[in-house]
Order: sequence, then C-alpha cells, then structure tokens
Amino acid sequence: MPVPSHYWIINVRIPDCFIDSAIREQNLESNLSTTLQRDRLFPCHLEISDGQILQLVPDFQDSQIPITNLPIVDAKQGIIIPCFVDLHTHLDKGHLWERNPNLDGTFQGALQAVHRDCAEQRNWNYDDLYRRMEFGLKCSYAHGTKAIRTHLDCPPHQIKTSFQIFRELREKWKGKVSLQAVSLVQLAYFETQEGEQFADMIADIGGIMGGTVRMSPDLDRYLDRIFTLAKERNLCLDFHADENDNPESRTLHHIAETALKHGFSSQIVCGHCCSLAVQDEETAKETIALVKQAGIGIVSLPMCNLYLQDRVAERTPRWRGVTLVRELDAAGVSVALSSDNCRDPFYGFGDHDMLQVFSMGTKICHLDTPYDNWIESVTSRPAALMGLSDIGKISIGQPADLVLFKARSYSELLSRPQSDRIVIRNGVAIDTTLPDYSELDDLL
Ligand SMILES: [Zn+2]
Repeated sequence: MPVPSHYWIINVRIPDCFIDSAIREQNLESNLSTTLQRDRLFPCHLEISDGQILQLVPDFQDSQIPITNLPIVDAKQGIIIPCFVDLHTHLDKGHLWERNPNLDGTFQGALQAVHRDCAEQRNWNYDDLYRRMEFGLKCSYAHGTKAIRTHLDCPPHQIKTSFQIFRELREKWKGKVSLQAVSLVQLAYFETQEGEQFADMIADIGGIMGGTVRMSPDLDRYLDRIFTLAKERNLCLDFHADENDNPESRTLHHIAETALKHGFSSQIVCGHCCSLAVQDEETAKETIALVKQAGIGIVSLPMCNLYLQDRVAERTPRWRGVTLVRELDAAGVSVALSSDNCRDPFYGFGDHDMLQVFSMGTKICHLDTPYDNWIESVTSRPAALMGLSDIGKISIGQPADLVLFKARSYSELLSRPQSDRIVIRNGVAIDTTLPDYSELDDLL
C-alpha cells in the first residue's frame, strides 16, 4: 500500500448495506454476476484523499477504470468493509489463561478461576491489568477494529484501579480505538449503601451501567433500582442476561418490561440471552416482541456460548449455545455479534479478531443462507448501539477507515483467516503485526 495522501483503490467489492441507497439503486440496472448478486456485493472504485473517501464510482460492465495520474491500488475484486466494532468484550480478564485456566471448561469453573485470580490472589494490580488490557487493544486494532466496549469486573477492592486504567487507555488510544466501559456486578450491589456512590463513579468515567441479571424473587426490584439510577444520571445500560440453558430463565423479558415501564430512552444492550433458544416458541416470541418494543439491542457472543454452554464432563455437547439471532433479526431487533472473552477462563481462545467472530457466528448461526446484510452485525449495528453512528458506512466525506481483503466473495472471505488483510485508518495502511505473546510472560 502506498502512503500518498491522495490515491485510488480500484476494483473493490463493498457489501451493499454500507453504501448510500441512491448509489446502490444503480445496481438494479446493471448486469451483475451471480456471485455479486447472491452476496450483495457492489463493485466500485474509491478515491481517497486526506484520510477521507472523496469519490465512490460504481464499476459496471461497461464502465471504465477512472483515468487518473494519481497512484492506484488494484484490489482485484477484493471485498472492502468499514472497520469493525466490538460491542462486548472483557479486556480486564483477557490473557490470564496460563495463570488460572478453567480446566473443566464449565461456567462455574470460569467463575471460580476468575475469582481466584482477581479476588483471592489479587493479581489485577495496575501493571498487570494495564498490560493485559492494552494487549487486547493492540490485537483489536491490528485486526481492523475501531471501537470496543469492555465490561469491567467491579468487586469493591478492584474498582479504583480498573477505572483508572480504563481512563488512561481510553485517552492513550483515542483516535485509534474508541473505548467504552460497562460495570459488571451482581444487580443487588446497586441496592447497597455503596450502590448509589458506585453509580456516580460510573457516571464520572462516562461509563455504562450494567451487571449480571439472574432470576430471583427480587429481580424486578433490582431492575427498578438500576433503571432509576441510570435514568437519574442519563446513562445507558448493558446487561449480561440469561447466559444459561434453563428455559425458566427469562430475565430478558423482565428487562424489557422494566424498560417500557420506566419509559427508558437511553440505549439498552443485552448480551448472551442463550436461554431464549431453549424456550417454547410462544414464550420466546412474546419476549422478542417486548425486546423490539423496548428498543433493546441484542449482542450474541457465539464463540463463548459455543465454548461454555452445554459443557458436561465426558459428554458431547448437543446445542450451540447461541440465542435466537435470526428470529430477533427477523422481528426487527438490532442484533450484533461480538468477541466476549479472550484467552481467559470463560473462553480459552480468541484474539479479538472480529472477522473470526463473524466467520464463527456465520457458521454457528447459519447466517450464510443468505448472507443478507449480516456483515452489519460486526460493524454498523454495534456502532449504532454504542452511539457511534458515524462508524459503519462507506460514503463520501467519511473517514477512510476500512478493511480490505483479498477474498472476492463471502465464501472466500470466511474460508481463510485473512491474515493478509489491509487495515486502512484515515486513508493510510497501518502495521497489522500482532503483539507478541512474550510481552506478557513476566505476568504469568
Ligand atoms: Zn460477557
């Protein structure tokens, strides 16, 4: 890739959901190949100048490559998309696998291992946490991600350090990765004396209020409390909901009901929602309708769900663990896919590569029949749910923050890891070298 500030990228294919409808309609009059039609890819050329997209010229069979004396990059029909957005991560737990692995691979095993690492051994000091969290950011950035929301475990002894590091990293990575933080606590914590003060601390860092929601006789009271605190401070909400296979687990339903009751107008995101997939159709349908009505966004974590759900010793898993992504999408709910945990007790693998998330998500949830506009689930949809609506379009005047692949169709895209992808930020190809694992050696 050249470094000039003004150049063309010719012969690219853009998923048409990222293009203005006025330009997209020209598509209808052209004779596109079956692959382009099936994958909804729009052939065009892009002019980049001073970090922005200056022109988008459709490339139909009778059209010419722009005549120019500017430098040209020939993408050879490769797919180009806006940078990724990762709506649900746990940067604070990342990369502690070797130190405290989850050897039985269960959800309980994960909780215990993290508790051991964070609360018993008190490993999450400033240096440890800063370096592990930044390692995750380096991976994300190199893979082509532009914005990340991380949940932060908030046992009382940890809050100050975690919030301080979050602030520092958000500042340091500004312009590269937009960073958001959500509190991760049991909802009951907001009922304690410290609860209100904690809500103020979240507001103070510009964070999002959240926690793990579990079925309990007190659930509606807990929800009332957190919704009230969030409303008073004008904060968004983000919950871990129904991360289990129990059909009786219907916290998503309770969250949607509470949102409607409070007339809550800030964005709510619910993650996991696995149990929705094991409920009878009628029950699930009713919840989905409420979720739609309440304007709640759903983030599915397909890799982590595949790993933790239905794990029983010496038995082969029978279900994939994911929520009803297709049914939610069909009902008009905004559905995103995200990384979740990364080489920690909740997921022993991962590298914050959103292409891998999309690839795995497509295969786990059958999003290939058809691909439709599911690529939005790792780009524009999570961006909108994070309030970053300027991210996720490829249009004139937008920053040239793009990921270019050699793959010319979704089948090619999702068959290789695409490690040779080109990540363009403000018009310039960045160094996509991943951080070396040895950077963390002395923390283990
Ligand atoms: Zn999570």
